[in-house]
Amino acid sequence: MKKVIGIDLGGTKINGAVVDESGEILRLNTLSTSKSGSSGEVMDGISELIRALKEDQEISAIGIGSPGFIDSANGKVLSVGGNIEGWAGTDIKGPLEREFGIPVQVENDANVAGLCEAWIGAGRDRDSFVMLTVGTGLGGAIYTKREGLWRGNHFQAAELGHSILYPGGHGCSCGQRGCTEQYVSGTAVEDEYERLSGSRRTGREIFDSFKEDPISEKVVRKFAWDFSVFLVTIKNIFDPEAVIIGGGVILSRDSWWDEMIGNFNSQVNNDPGMEIVPARHLNASGTIGAARAAMDRFVWGV
Ligand SMILES: [Zn+2]
Repeated sequence: MKKVIGIDLGGTKINGAVVDESGEILRLNTLSTSKSGSSGEVMDGISELIRALKEDQEISAIGIGSPGFIDSANGKVLSVGGNIEGWAGTDIKGPLEREFGIPVQVENDANVAGLCEAWIGAGRDRDSFVMLTVGTGLGGAIYTKREGLWRGNHFQAAELGHSILYPGGHGCSCGQRGCTEQYVSGTAVEDEYERLSGSRRTGREIFDSFKEDPISEKVVRKFAWDFSVFLVTIKNIFDPEAVIIGGGVILSRDSWWDEMIGNFNSQVNNDPGMEIVPARHLNASGTIGAARAAMDRFVWGV
């Protein structure tokens, strides 16, 4: 069985794994990076991780899941680089292919999470789904079994977090105002709590205290409402077989999931039977999905 390396670039760490053709992780490694790390530091970190992972092994390809708008044909970051300082415009593929002599496939991080769910997760037996990753930000992927990922004409499709939920609303890092990401994400919950209380708590603390703290309750209920409005839009645009929800915020779903589903059912124009389900993979979805992206292009030639 052939083996590939999957790399998942996060805000404060880089995860890497050696993955086989069945989606099994054979070796796993993590590297911490400084939060204000430059693009050069991140590229050095990726190299270091690949060197450690590939030792004594035959590696057929390398896949990388990266934040930002990604030109996946050429392996470059476009104008929006996500939460890595100076990441926009970075050529990820070129330097790594020169260093290791192994083909490299780069994909947007939410797309990679979608590929993981399609391969061995909640999307496995579905013809179509929309993936939402709700963490620091709000990422999206659009997947059909026949076509694979929908990347768009300029590699900017499925940026669902930047669809506008409140026209003229909170400013977004992408330059627009009122993006859904500013209302439906861990950071959005922390920001809203701070606006109402004057103090900042982590998203996890806010979700966990929604029963005792009236401000937390208000923030979490608003989150569930905004999320449900967004899901109505997703249903009306895509009518997918399912919406799969992943990302760190899913760990706190006891505090908002049922209310979100109730809101969705009360607002949607008809009941199309679109399933809304949690992702099966959280921490490993980045590395496994990145490995799958590389497998598709360079091992299986999909
Ligand atoms: Zn935006």
